[in-house]
Amino acid sequence: MVGLFVGENFIVGTGSNISIFCFGLILEICVKAKVRTQNELNPPYQSICLQEYFHKCQAMPHNTLLYVPVKNTQWPIIYCPEYNIGFLGLEKLHPFDSGKWGRVFDFLKEASMIRDDTIISPLEASELDLLVAHTRRYLGSLRWSMTVAGITEIPPVAILPNFIVQRKVLRPFRYQTGGTILAAKLAVERGWAINIGGGFHHCSGDRGGGFCAYADITLSIKFLFERMPSVRKAMIIDLDAHQGNGHERDFMDDDRVYIMDVYNRGIYPHDGFAKRAIKRRVELQHFTGDTEYLELIRRHVEGALNEFQPDIVVYNAGTDILEEDPLGCLSVTAQGIIERDQIVFQKVRTRGIPVMMVTSGGYLRTTARIIADSILNLKALGLVSWDEAENCPPPESQDPVESVVRRSRSEGFLSRLKRNCLSKSSTGDLQDIGNKNEKLTDSPEVDDGNLHKDKCCAGIVENSEHAEPCDSPNAVDFDLCTNSEKG
Ligand SMILES: [Zn+2]
Repeated sequence: MVGLFVGENFIVGTGSNISIFCFGLILEICVKAKVRTQNELNPPYQSICLQEYFHKCQAMPHNTLLYVPVKNTQWPIIYCPEYNIGFLGLEKLHPFDSGKWGRVFDFLKEASMIRDDTIISPLEASELDLLVAHTRRYLGSLRWSMTVAGITEIPPVAILPNFIVQRKVLRPFRYQTGGTILAAKLAVERGWAINIGGGFHHCSGDRGGGFCAYADITLSIKFLFERMPSVRKAMIIDLDAHQGNGHERDFMDDDRVYIMDVYNRGIYPHDGFAKRAIKRRVELQHFTGDTEYLELIRRHVEGALNEFQPDIVVYNAGTDILEEDPLGCLSVTAQGIIERDQIVFQKVRTRGIPVMMVTSGGYLRTTARIIADSILNLKALGLVSWDEAENCPPPESQDPVESVVRRSRSEGFLSRLKRNCLSKSSTGDLQDIGNKNEKLTDSPEVDDGNLHKDKCCAGIVENSEHAEPCDSPNAVDFDLCTNSEKG
């Protein structure tokens, strides 16, 4: 009978709706009657059941898209052009090199380590994903451009409409956050992973700051605790020049997370409360150089791993320890940074512990080259490898249009406009542009000399190690600051 006539269909459809409504009403009345009877018979039983049910609902992880399927022929290296921040040159008002992630990718590509098809593109973290670590109130505050201007330390952002701020400033951060969350999972599965972004270690669940809008490190660990049964303990090794007060606040009373932090005590953020969460604290003075710095790293990474056996190490590999960095105020050379990363990977990987690296702070234009050189050094030493990706033959035919589109997404608006105008005036042919780009990116510009460049340490100030009372009863404090530095 159903579907013979349009009119009938309508009538039948309406009838079905009424039937369903009546059935639902009766069912609801029955359920309520049963609950009432059960409550009258045994009120405590009913209340315990409901409580358990709600607890289970809260504990259940939400459905996320961030753990994207990955091919075996892809490196556990995460990046996409959406990482880069660029809007009418506004990004130039901050000392942060907001395109460094794209340049790291380009350098690794030039060195023939990776290709577009052999790295992993993450997805943007959704609001539900972010709520795993953030409060609704904090996420709501990001709808005010004024708040974002404060976090990014770019005052003109305050006068921009928020939809532009969301798209041009916060969206890249959300992509990088998605990358960190995915990288942590891949590290557990493959032994190591690198997110060519992330490391927003000043942001905690309820507040941002210092160019960090989302707590990607906290999120990545919380996701693992929720979804990977093999991960019950995590270690954060934070070697950015600044104190990682964001994840420290988030894991303040969590014994599952061990935090080691080596930072310049004379610079931002001076977060005394967050220091209580650090289990191994190494405070540096201004202009600490290679020899002393690397000795400290060797000793304390070893000590931390002897003290605590994690199921994963999250390595915050900030490069703002570089000499002449205006914000880090330390004097570690490029070669020193490469050796530092090498020490961490060697010590963690020889113990068979998965390690996930994020690139965090680093504010000079030379930073991208150093990060790429460091990754290439790790590869040369066999500390990072993935044979299936390395031996994966390149695709037979590459779509030139796709390659141009991919490249243009990583550029700023003005440079894209300029390049498009130039290309239109010369040939106007996408095929030609594609070929030109291929030639540019294939040119062998890798400076191997940087890898083994042995610079002498500059600006070493004599340090004397002495113990300092620590705020945390469990913490081990290694304070290297002299009184002269404090002035
Ligand atoms: Zn930093």
